[in-house]
Amino acid sequence: MAQLLHALTAAGVLATWASASAALSPQETAQVDALIRAYPAFLSHVDGQALVWRDGTRMPLTRSNAATYTERLNNPGLLDQLAVPYPACAPLRTPAWNVDPGRTRFEPLFRRMYGGTAAQVQRNLTAVNWFGQSVQVTRVNGVDRSLQAVAAELPRSPEFRPFVTPSAGTFLWRTVACTPRLSVHSFGAAIDLNVARSSYWAWNGYREGQRGITYRNTFPLKLVQVFERHGWIWGGRWYHHDTMHFEYRPELTGADACQNR
Ligand SMILES: [Zn+2]
Repeated sequence: MAQLLHALTAAGVLATWASASAALSPQETAQVDALIRAYPAFLSHVDGQALVWRDGTRMPLTRSNAATYTERLNNPGLLDQLAVPYPACAPLRTPAWNVDPGRTRFEPLFRRMYGGTAAQVQRNLTAVNWFGQSVQVTRVNGVDRSLQAVAAELPRSPEFRPFVTPSAGTFLWRTVACTPRLSVHSFGAAIDLNVARSSYWAWNGYREGQRGITYRNTFPLKLVQVFERHGWIWGGRWYHHDTMHFEYRPELTGADACQNR
């Protein structure tokens, strides 16, 4: 089937690609287990090549056969979302070319948990006090409680204050600029911190996937680690870096990596 699709694509008949569905490797099995542990209200178990939800929904555990980085980003399989290990609580390093742990998202998973439209997501939003600023995040998966826990922990380090406030935004139903992909802000599960202290790969005129994007960051590691301990990943660990951006992705931060830090 994959060969047939490739042939059709080559002929210009079908501009899409197949998803491979070989058996899970031990590493993929561990990654899917971490996904299930991260979202226990929704996810139940694996059955063959499917992720089974508590309500009986089955989602295929596939990986994209896309030829390019951007094609895979725009139409990943569920396994692609988990494929790049996120270095939770690790020292800061300049990410290698196109290494963006957590930037690939299987959108149907998020739509099903948080809501498939702006109105559905909005029904689950609640206000969190972010250093005197009221920000809206989802109650689903305890994202609101998690962000409150981050906010409670940060004042122990007053030097972080200029980075964390004002927040540049939380909930906003939108696609990522110049892409068909929904931002995690759409689901009320992301927060942008102080834009004045931030760096974003596209501000300098680069194209996605281009080599040689200059990495810049001023955010302190200890601040990043507070978020990571509570299940949030940071856009500053991406080659396509977005240092103001944090999103709730406990399937990637794990429970162990941040111990003793
Ligand atoms: Zn953001």
